[in-house]
Amino acid sequence: MSLHHSTRRGTPYLGCPGARRKGGLKLKLNELTVSDVRKLIDNREITARDVIDDTYKRIDEVEDRVKAFITLTRDDAYRMADNAGDTIKSGKSSLLAGVPIAVKDNMCTKGVLTTCASKMLYNFVPPYESTVTGRLSAQNYVLVGKTNLDEFAMGSSTENSSFHTTKNPWNLECVPGGSSGGSAAAVAADECIAALGSDTGGSIRQPASLCGVVGLKPTYGRVSRYGLVAFASSLDQIGPITKNVTDAAIIMNAIGGHDPSDSTSAPLELPDFALSLGQDIKGLKIGIPKEYFVEGMNEDVEASVRAAIRKLESLGAVIVEVSLPHTGYAIATYYLLATSEASSNLARYDGVKYGFRADGKDLLDMYMNTRAQGFGPEVKRRIMLGTYALSAGYYDAYYKKAQQVRTLIKQDFDKAFTQADVIITPTSPSAAFRIGEKATDPLQMYLSDIFTISINLAGVPAMSLPCGFTKDNLPVGLQIIGKHFDEQTIFKVAYAYEQSTDWHTRRPKL
Ligand code: GLN
Repeated sequence: MSLHHSTRRGTPYLGCPGARRKGGLKLKLNELTVSDVRKLIDNREITARDVIDDTYKRIDEVEDRVKAFITLTRDDAYRMADNAGDTIKSGKSSLLAGVPIAVKDNMCTKGVLTTCASKMLYNFVPPYESTVTGRLSAQNYVLVGKTNLDEFAMGSSTENSSFHTTKNPWNLECVPGGSSGGSAAAVAADECIAALGSDTGGSIRQPASLCGVVGLKPTYGRVSRYGLVAFASSLDQIGPITKNVTDAAIIMNAIGGHDPSDSTSAPLELPDFALSLGQDIKGLKIGIPKEYFVEGMNEDVEASVRAAIRKLESLGAVIVEVSLPHTGYAIATYYLLATSEASSNLARYDGVKYGFRADGKDLLDMYMNTRAQGFGPEVKRRIMLGTYALSAGYYDAYYKKAQQVRTLIKQDFDKAFTQADVIITPTSPSAAFRIGEKATDPLQMYLSDIFTISINLAGVPAMSLPCGFTKDNLPVGLQIIGKHFDEQTIFKVAYAYEQSTDWHTRRPKL
């Protein structure tokens, strides 16, 4: 087994002469995990600059093919790495000091272009920093660049980006998933060590699943949304996309917790998620919702998920059947609520305050031209759907009804969680699909979120982690859903599973 495989498993290699950069063996630092890099930097075996050198070397090698990024921040990255180096020298190192992290391009980074993959914001440079990137900065992280997404995070494949489609590193003819497809592909392709994504209906978990990496959507309210460009404010959450479960815990420890700048962030103490790693899962109850194992699921996906359930059982977990009876309404509910909120949130793009502005013979004409030319087709479709659902005469039949069904969906989870500590499902009904395969059929695209959307409607946390491969060598993701504000149990189960398998050690050959 090669060195980089053993490091991903978390096998300590410090003291191994091969780990030394100058010791003959060419260690590719961009392939390591957060905790591996930390140990090497703190032991003075490498510098923060070395890590960034290897990261951009990799980007230069593969980015032409993967296209994970909208903006690369090479110059800033070296400056940040040098700052991290100074902090480390002064003895004040933090877990993320010098770690190269990519950020989805819908989180505001002060002075760095933030486009939401939309022509509408093609030139928008935020005057302020999002809370999450501010918290990473406080730990001296290094911003590698801003990653591609579906325009305004609306989509499941990155094909809705106004700029380009990101490719899946496991098969360049397939989508990486979406909307955080750039972040997931960048992590899978070792173009960064970790990334941030946002998840409104599955946008962290589904691309993590399709790219064979770990992605966590925290409980609604666990992570501040301040500086996240709003899509559907009652559903949006930011979370980590990483190479393993440990790194997800490290990033959550950095970005989570109450923020007075976001009134929906919960005033709760942030637990230390690293403490959940390595705990026994004997006797822990795992719920399997019968509604999620239905016809239409890819057979390799089903086989991998069922094998994962057996593995967890062999580790001492108790499997119980649970029911989430309103699952069948989740997609319709989501596409009424998310579009309604989007239609309101996106009203601000009028050519006056931000970004793109078209010409017009008068003010109204300018507004209309700006919105007609600035937004792509999927964003327009959603603004129209949402405006319709909220309009007088239709509000009660659509928006209000959808809110009522949302409550029923949440109650399904409340009830299931009286019988189980976590719930397990596949993350996505299929592995990565081919570019173009669903692009012309919005309904097919919407269906790819069937297993992730209810979780956002209920507000509970969920993680996707690798649990196998299809016959075509495409990754399959396992979704672990937890109770409100109980990410700890998710981490416990995910880590136990990860440590008993080697899926997370496999990397695409690019
Ligand atoms: N794919 C879903 C959508 O298109 C979810 C997107 C997201 O989570 N941002 O809305």
